[in-house]
Amino acid sequence: MAKKVKSFRDKLEKAAREKHIKCPVCGRDKEFVKVIRAEKTPNGSYRYVEEMIAVCGCNEKEVFA
Ligand SMILES: [Zn+2]
Repeated sequence: MAKKVKSFRDKLEKAAREKHIKCPVCGRDKEFVKVIRAEKTPNGSYRYVEEMIAVCGCNEKEVFA
């Protein structure tokens, strides 16, 4: 049987692929990109976290900076 629990992110990605989520602010389709960022752990080291981010005209400058 297929797994019933899917992450919110998976749903967003799927929705974006199938329907195109339009940003109400800039009117552009949101595009999902995978970004890798460093996250500090409590013991002071860093680990890399993969994140899917919805990008549109409002935040593309920050994301791709
Ligand atoms: Zn926007």
